[in-house]
Amino acid sequence: DYAPGGYLPVKVGDAFSSPNRRHPYTVIRKLGWGHFSTVWLIHNKDDDRYAALKVCSAKYGATARDEILLLEKVRKRAYKNVKTRHGHTEFAQHPGARHVVALIDYFSTRGRNRGDEHICMVLEPLGENLLSLLDRFRRRRRSESTLTGIPIEIVRIVAKQVLMGLQFLHDECNLVHTDIKPENILVCLPNVQDYIEAHIARSETWPSQRVSVPPKHVDGRKQHVDMYHSQPIPTPPLPSNLLNGGWNGSANTLSSTSSSRSRSRDGDFYGFNVQISDLGNATPADKHFTEDIQTRQYRAPEAIIRRSDWGTAVDIWSVACMIFELATGDHLFDPRSKRGSWEKDDDHMAQIIEVCGDFDIELKMGGKFSRDIFNSRGQLRNIDKIKPISLTQLLTETYNYPPREAKHFATFLEPMLRVDPSMRSTAAEMLLHEWLGPRETGDYSRLPQSYESYEWSG
Ligand code: ADP
Ligand code: MG
Repeated sequence: DYAPGGYLPVKVGDAFSSPNRRHPYTVIRKLGWGHFSTVWLIHNKDDDRYAALKVCSAKYGATARDEILLLEKVRKRAYKNVKTRHGHTEFAQHPGARHVVALIDYFSTRGRNRGDEHICMVLEPLGENLLSLLDRFRRRRRSESTLTGIPIEIVRIVAKQVLMGLQFLHDECNLVHTDIKPENILVCLPNVQDYIEAHIARSETWPSQRVSVPPKHVDGRKQHVDMYHSQPIPTPPLPSNLLNGGWNGSANTLSSTSSSRSRSRDGDFYGFNVQISDLGNATPADKHFTEDIQTRQYRAPEAIIRRSDWGTAVDIWSVACMIFELATGDHLFDPRSKRGSWEKDDDHMAQIIEVCGDFDIELKMGGKFSRDIFNSRGQLRNIDKIKPISLTQLLTETYNYPPREAKHFATFLEPMLRVDPSMRSTAAEMLLHEWLGPRETGDYSRLPQSYESYEWSG
């Protein structure tokens, strides 16, 4: 909402000056928006570069400042002196840092609405988020068959890169993201600066669309607001071998998954990459800003019962929920309340017990909300119909996975869906899982080849 205290009204062509730049940043397109902000493509003449500008809502100034502090910490931890195999010391980037969005600059600006202050972050420009990618596949697939997710070869790459990013955030930065979900994972673009320039030049493929909305009355004055559609920078065509290689490729064949070698041999392969973005809710693992964390469908059981000692494991739970959703097109858990009968938390726990099995009473009772959900014997208070179903069963029966693929995929998801956070696998452990394929794959072509032999030294 663009009313006072909310978003800053921004127009294409607007200029934002930063104390760190000679020229102002000029606004080119609207890229997206979220609960806290609107996001714009900008250009700066100092270095003739494009970037993304996240203009935060006035009422979330404190949150925006925290986000900047964390992004700075992430920037500091991304590079380190590392010892190579040959005993040399090299200043190198952590491989997982490539999969976390980078802050370029920040400043604050005053809006027209009663002098509201808006914090602005200049970020590396990225492409569409995975929710909109999923939506495009969903639409395409519905007409074809019952399979409605993103092709499994792409899901595999996403899983690997998100886990790499989280390994960096968790182990190097001691941060918990707390809001891993498709909207917050963005696609990287090849040769991003030239790529953006080419798209702007061909504006028919990427128009800056105005929306005609009736003017609103703000402070008694007529004001035109929200005049642009969000237009993410278009994703380049995905390599055909990633689309068709897996058993759930659009050709719907049951051919074996393509190897990393055939992937990089492919002419149109550009190294599909993703980055974790939106650190607006991230928090140090040991110093929480709030206990009310995560978006409902991706919320870990320890957060549902409101334990106060949650940590990095909550992100791993979300990864499993998200990866399942990308592959199937459906939420793994999608709790509903029923008036007069049960709340969302009750249904959420019931759904978790159905898929993950029942669990110890000690685990159930550790949180502030435990007694609202469970009785003293550890049974759900408000729901008694539980229909257990294994992940493998769910994948074969509801999503037509062939049994072998279902089982293999389930063995990957299961360690991330352990209800006991101390038993849940970490990002580092998950990266060793063989469902992800060979450890060195084409999508890391731009990383130092021998990064695995590096020892990270403080
Ligand atoms: P919020 O904190 O308000 O949720 P996000 O950081 O999630 O804001 O950004 C909102 C949306 O803006 C994202 O879902 C994405 O579509 C777009 N966006 C965010 N960051 C970038 C970026 N660096 N490059 C391109 N688009 C972005
Ligand atoms: Mg967001």
